[in-house]
Amino acid sequence: MKLLRDKVMEEGIVLSDQVLKVDSFLNHQMDPVLMKEVGREFTRRFAGEQITKVLTIESSGIAPAIMTALELGVPMIFARKHKSLTLRDNILVEKVYSFTKKETNEITVSKKFLCPEDRVLIIDDFLANGEAAFGLARIVEQIGAKVAGIGIVIEKAFQPGGRLLQEAGYQVESLVRVASLENGTVTFAEEVIS
Ligand code: 5GP
Repeated sequence: MKLLRDKVMEEGIVLSDQVLKVDSFLNHQMDPVLMKEVGREFTRRFAGEQITKVLTIESSGIAPAIMTALELGVPMIFARKHKSLTLRDNILVEKVYSFTKKETNEITVSKKFLCPEDRVLIIDDFLANGEAAFGLARIVEQIGAKVAGIGIVIEKAFQPGGRLLQEAGYQVESLVRVASLENGTVTFAEEVIS
């Protein structure tokens, strides 16, 4: 997705060979016009999948997920990373190791919002080792629903998450794929520019 790629080129900050900071449009300040286009692009890529819910994880997945859900005309659910006082019973829980925080969190979703008939599109901001996406997929599968696809805004293709998810049988669509962050430079993997 050219618009997103240009934004990463212009505003992305390479923090290390492993970590890209995009806090000016996705991880802190959010760009609503770009997020709207992101939602349109995911909707285009997963057309025909008969998606009934969009699922993400707080907090940076929420913006691309809500725009996608708006475009698809379905509800969006975000998994919580912290225990909520109002969310204690009837919850789906999975452990997820956080790439950026280097700690394991229990993520939770209320059973109220997913059912076995659902076809769920998982959306996240970044894909590194796939921990977050696999955790969300396990939540969907716990209730007996189907993962209809996984949409990622920025995949770091030099990390194994994308390959592992595909090997597990999931359709993964990444809007930009970063091949390397070496020498403080963002290098993109080959992709079809849309
Ligand atoms: P994974 O679970 O695939 O190992 O890592 C993805 C999660 O870690 C995303 O939800 C994202 O919040 C965070 N993450 C991983 N790599 C990066 C990165 O390079 N930059 C930022 N800002 N977040 C990242």
